[in-house]
Amino acid sequence: MNGLMMDQPLLVKSIVEHAQLIHPDVEVVSVTADNPRHRYTYREAFRRSRQLANVMAGWGLQQGDRVATLGWSDHRHLEAYYAICTSGYVCHTINPRLFLPQLEFIINHAEDQWVFVDRDFLPLAEALAPLCPEVRGWVVMTSADFMPETSLPDVYCYEPLLADASDSFRYPQLDENSACSLCYTSGTTGNPKGVLYSHRSTILHTLVSMLPNVMNLGGHEVVLPIVPMFHVNAWGFPYSSPLAGAKLVLPGSKMGDGRELTGLINSEGVTLSAGVPTVWLALQAHLRASGESVPSLKRILTGGSAPPLAILEEFDRLGVESQVAWGMTEMSPLGTANAPTLLSPEQTTEAASKTRLKAGRQVFGVELKITGDDGEELPWDGEAFGNLKARGPWVCSSYFRLEESSAHAEPGWLDTGDIATIDPDGLMAITDRSKDVIKSGGEWISSIDVENAVLSHPKVAEAAVIGRPHPRWGERPLLIVVRDRGAEELGADEVLDFLRDKVAKWWLPDAVEFVDELPHTATGKIHKVGLRETFAEFEF
Ligand code: AMP
Repeated sequence: MNGLMMDQPLLVKSIVEHAQLIHPDVEVVSVTADNPRHRYTYREAFRRSRQLANVMAGWGLQQGDRVATLGWSDHRHLEAYYAICTSGYVCHTINPRLFLPQLEFIINHAEDQWVFVDRDFLPLAEALAPLCPEVRGWVVMTSADFMPETSLPDVYCYEPLLADASDSFRYPQLDENSACSLCYTSGTTGNPKGVLYSHRSTILHTLVSMLPNVMNLGGHEVVLPIVPMFHVNAWGFPYSSPLAGAKLVLPGSKMGDGRELTGLINSEGVTLSAGVPTVWLALQAHLRASGESVPSLKRILTGGSAPPLAILEEFDRLGVESQVAWGMTEMSPLGTANAPTLLSPEQTTEAASKTRLKAGRQVFGVELKITGDDGEELPWDGEAFGNLKARGPWVCSSYFRLEESSAHAEPGWLDTGDIATIDPDGLMAITDRSKDVIKSGGEWISSIDVENAVLSHPKVAEAAVIGRPHPRWGERPLLIVVRDRGAEELGADEVLDFLRDKVAKWWLPDAVEFVDELPHTATGKIHKVGLRETFAEFEF
């Protein structure tokens, strides 16, 4: 027997309808190239997104067509997000940090019809235009006064387009499973793969992300997502903030700039922020150097890669609560959050430090398991390392226009490509990417744990551990370190001595190499494939 409840589709337009009715006057503040503090309200944001939807209605697009964005996080990008998907098109957010051949591949693979471009990325768009002949038009997201000369064909300026458009728009009635947005993962090998989110997955992910055990997002918050809108929908904040009625602060191109971020936090009264460890390093370095503080900031979420303990401890000193979360493009991105629980056992300081670094518990809606190489499920005992697999309504079931992928080898599950342990109480910890694991004498060494221990050394700026062939053990860890500024005297012995009581004896790297900088991927992670190439000839 079915229940007798109304069958209303879960659609992104309902976020718009809710926000403009319930908290239309809450502010959205953006840093843009043509205005360092653009300020308006959700009412105005959604009014303009309807104008944009009317502009797009004249472009001859079919439902499901892809319209791309190549932009920083700001109000125009927000308008494009909503205008594109509420019209029934798919908002393909492009990561401008990818290499030109990857960008060419994804625009052509997605068959993007139109592209919205930030002024900063115009040279990139000009290089791409001849390689992507199917693109019918380019819109530069700026005002007429700031519209630069450009060689782009079929080019329009955003503000004049909107100026003449009506703000009355009838949202088409869509199926909740229809595609809403598209984001390509920046794999380090092979072509990028497209993850196609639906209206339904976006709404469910948004709702769960707001839960107290997850991001605890409400209308009392001022949110600064320092995660770009071109990467996994800025962790969903462009959807969850208007739904919650939280004030949204979008940092434009200033995501890695500690001084600008401090200024934004203090001038806007930011209470909650989210970003990857690299962003926190930049913010904390600025606060240390300037002596400034961020009194309004109550909480930060860190994800994207494993955070060093030093970052969390520095936030403790600043009076900012920090919480680790884990996810991936294929998961919209949210998978786990490390929220405190009432039943957390009393722990020694050392154990508590380890606990808080873990990725967290699966959020409601996501199921996790770890499996051995034979595919058998491993116990949640905090000891067994396994391939981490996930399923749930906002987990990708297959890649866009890709028949087969090893990530979906086990039906009904996504192989995340991460290696993890899970404690009996559900706390998951990432120990490695499966491609980066180090197998010494048949046993796995967690490069993340070793890296974390090294990073707590005050003279270390960045560190990576990779496996190199070893005649006896198969592979042994090689540690690569970037010294902190002014720490030229730091040598291998000091680093290894420092590690001795922090990691298992057989995890201790066999050698330490010092470099000026580490290579990074387009999403800011250490590029271990590149490092292994650099050290291909290395011998212990
Ligand atoms: P992306 O799809 O680019 O967002 O990258 C997802 C990957 O980032 C995951 O599969 C993990 O390898 C890594 N990652 C995300 N969050 C964490 C975390 N809290 N700790 C360790 N690795 C993480």
